[in-house]
Amino acid sequence: TVRTRIAPSPTGDPHVGTAYIALFNLCFARAQGGQFVLRIEDTDRTRSTPESEKAILDSLRWLGLDWDEGPDVGGPHGPYRQSERGDIYKKYCDELVEKGYAFHCYRTAEELEQLREQLREAGRTALKPSDLALPEDEVERRRNAGQPYVVRMKVPESGTCVVDDLLRGPIEIDWAQVDAQILLKSDGMPTYHLANVVDDHLMQITHVLRGEEWINSAPKHKLLYEYFGWEIPVLCHLPLLRNPDKTKLSKRKNPTSILYYQRAGFMPEALLNYLGRMGWSMPDEREKFSLEEMLEHFDIKRVSLGGPVFDVEKLSWLNGLWIRELDNESLADRLVDWLFNRENLLKVLPHARERMETFGDFAPLVGFLAAGKLPLTEASFGANKLDLDTQKKVLQFTLWRLETLRSWERDNIFQAVKAVSTAMEIKLKDFNAPLFVAISGTTASFSVMDAMVLLGSDLSRARLRQAIE
Ligand code: ATP
Ligand code: GLU
Repeated sequence: TVRTRIAPSPTGDPHVGTAYIALFNLCFARAQGGQFVLRIEDTDRTRSTPESEKAILDSLRWLGLDWDEGPDVGGPHGPYRQSERGDIYKKYCDELVEKGYAFHCYRTAEELEQLREQLREAGRTALKPSDLALPEDEVERRRNAGQPYVVRMKVPESGTCVVDDLLRGPIEIDWAQVDAQILLKSDGMPTYHLANVVDDHLMQITHVLRGEEWINSAPKHKLLYEYFGWEIPVLCHLPLLRNPDKTKLSKRKNPTSILYYQRAGFMPEALLNYLGRMGWSMPDEREKFSLEEMLEHFDIKRVSLGGPVFDVEKLSWLNGLWIRELDNESLADRLVDWLFNRENLLKVLPHARERMETFGDFAPLVGFLAAGKLPLTEASFGANKLDLDTQKKVLQFTLWRLETLRSWERDNIFQAVKAVSTAMEIKLKDFNAPLFVAISGTTASFSVMDAMVLLGSDLSRARLRQAIE
């Protein structure tokens, strides 16, 4: 049977690209009566967090992308979290070393730096086993001294690797471009390449549908399958999502987090529908279709390789179609779920209650939290002390600063804002005014820091961006 998987790394907000790849994997498997697996690739221990993992699982489920096996639902090939599979990777890595397909590399960071420099001078790109080799007695000395090492795979020095792609046909990549890839890091953790190949094999994945950014990794993977003597799954590299200006979709230009679309009031059916239109179309070219309809007509060969543009305006239009098809009862249910549920109210009330005299004050006070885009004009900033140019700079510099934040907590946001205001030598009170307007539409609101926490990182940054445009 056909088995596919989505293998997200829990290192940030759930990405619409992850949902897009998941959708095509799910359709490919289910349309052929197969299974779809979710595996968490959390071998990067410094960047992976349980919050991110939870957000990814919740978001995919919100969209209606259900998996047959995964860390939360279990299955016969678990554990489905790579951080719990360390012994497995170690064992397979040892096997490669024993067979002579991989080697312990004792090169230090400084030596590697030097080797890379020499490489650049020679006009070459990849570090080869021959570049890394040390005399046997030197290896011995470093080993006895207990120096840390990594395990690297052997790769051919020259020649061409041909990787077959379901959509692209044979892809040729020169071995000269391929590094002696690290398989096991000095902390004993596997890299993506080793863990990914071992797991796809052990989890009996038959087809790997993933983003085209992985094409360059395919030769390493193909070679690993050969070293192990395993059959390689069918590879299929899907085109990456693009901004309307055709560059790779990036959070600097467009909201990329599924949480944004959830918070901004999009319907999961509409987002899924739109993702289904990314490089794919129904045989009759209709724009609006459900997951069931997509499944019924799914054919991977209908994927076109030109970069699909993820355009929020187009998505909004499609979402409108979906909204208008709901009857009033269902729309009321959706709105209650989205906005007027107790959980939401309880989060917002602490900030609103001090400013309320009647219940009637509530909606105007918190309305901005529910708005997608605020109707701002230059006049909205007119009552603030700083001139308009300076206000735009405040917004831009704050935006850039906030983009670097790893965790969206009140204290972090406050420190970031404060740092920018200090750097610009503007009193915090004057500095905050344009932020208030951009985030809540008015300076007569509750704390802009609290507002940003409630809105979340993507919606807050989108508001700052919109206010500058
Ligand atoms: P940055 O915005 O800093 O460039 P990123 O957008 O590449 O980062 P990652 O955290 O590297 O974000 O990616 C998260 C997941 O989303 C990965 O699985 C990646 O394959 C997928 N992804 C990222 N960008 C795209 C894209 N343009 N199209 C499809 N999938 C994408
Ligand atoms: N963990 C990788 C990612 O985050 C998986 C890539 C793959 O599908 O092989 O995209």
